[in-house]
Amino acid sequence: MRQSKLFTKTRKEAPKDETSKNAILLTRGGFINKEMAGVYSYLPLGFKVLQKIENIIREEMNAIGGAELLLTTLQDAELWKTSDRWDDKAVDIWLKTKLANGKEVGLAWTHEESMANLMKHHIDSYKDLPIYTYQIQTKFRNELRAKSGLMRGREFLMKDLYSFTKNEKELEEFYEKCAAAYMKIFERVGIAGKTYRTFAAGGSFSKFSDEFQTLSEAGEDTIYVDTKKKIAVNKEVYTDDVLKELGLKKEDLREEKAIEVGNIFKQGTRFSEPLGLMYKDEKGIKKPVIMGAYGIGLGRLMAAIVETHNDEKGIMWPESVAPFVAHIVAFSGGEKEARELYEKMVAQNLEVLYDDRRDLSPGEKLAEADLIGIPKRIIVSEKSLKAGGAEVKMRDSEKTEIVPLKDIILKNVK
Ligand code: ATP
Ligand code: MG
Repeated sequence: MRQSKLFTKTRKEAPKDETSKNAILLTRGGFINKEMAGVYSYLPLGFKVLQKIENIIREEMNAIGGAELLLTTLQDAELWKTSDRWDDKAVDIWLKTKLANGKEVGLAWTHEESMANLMKHHIDSYKDLPIYTYQIQTKFRNELRAKSGLMRGREFLMKDLYSFTKNEKELEEFYEKCAAAYMKIFERVGIAGKTYRTFAAGGSFSKFSDEFQTLSEAGEDTIYVDTKKKIAVNKEVYTDDVLKELGLKKEDLREEKAIEVGNIFKQGTRFSEPLGLMYKDEKGIKKPVIMGAYGIGLGRLMAAIVETHNDEKGIMWPESVAPFVAHIVAFSGGEKEARELYEKMVAQNLEVLYDDRRDLSPGEKLAEADLIGIPKRIIVSEKSLKAGGAEVKMRDSEKTEIVPLKDIILKNVK
């Protein structure tokens, strides 16, 4: 993409109404736009990052047998009454509205009820199981506080997967598979080193749920981390009894702030029973389907990446989720060569941002490049050409290198 065609303006100053680093950097870089508290639009650069994250999640969910679908946002009140989750006293984050005929509907904040209800048409016998459905869909939550940028939105994208299995053993097997897939996702987006599988409060079916918590001062959660065992315990379940049960010692644990980027949950028959989602076993006996739910917030994940990948100049995207892999910056005397390099890289299907603007000083261009945070910066100037090519620098390093133009293209071919 030519930067002259990128309409978004960067900002030198932090927006006054933002306090979190992710919102400040993403707004300054022109990745997102705040519509109101907790409600953000994705601009071209942010949308590119979002799509990269989405595809990584999709690949890993498909790899464990997930079937992608897309459910509706509008929810039938009657369905949610069946499971006792319609009343505002039971669920305090509902956003509700009315149809023209006066009928009350909800905007989905999760999808257990509608997913289980849908499955009633598709599950009859044990032969139909297991099934794993997932979607990447917009959720609405009337969160009391929304001060952490993309980390806690009132409208946000979630990947939610639901497992439908015959018994606890089958659930347990998939649960572990999904936990491993989550770690792969966090590895691929560059936060695995700081992300801990964390024991958290469970439900009626299991004592614990598992959260995936990324260490960050910006996090809203407090966890206790055993760095050697690579495991953590959420403060909400941090008691002597629990530590004993998990074989953890207080002296090995460190208190940390963390961001809950994902959450997996064994639900058992909590929803299948009230909704009547049953299957016939080998003997023809009707049994409730055993369910599990597995969530990742895409915006929150993007925020966690930004919170853990930045310096005083801006964002430092890991290549896997960067909006572009390379940023060609043309300075005077290097315009023609920069354009040719850009065209060659595009012809090779490489995702490149090309700063072809003529009305900005080199200093301004470089400050913007650092703010946007594309991993590889390639300056083409009269000076670099005289030195033998382009000046190449990685965003996370101070080292620059003169690379002949023809080698840059070859090096980047995947
Ligand atoms: P939290 O404890 O942070 O309120 P939760 O436990 O209610 O979140 P889940 O219902 O399990 O979250 O949702 C699954 C995932 O969706 C979370 O792990 C998180 O990544 C994301 N998520 C939840 N709420 C929000 C939100 N308000 N804004 C952005 N992402 C969210
Ligand atoms: Mg939670």
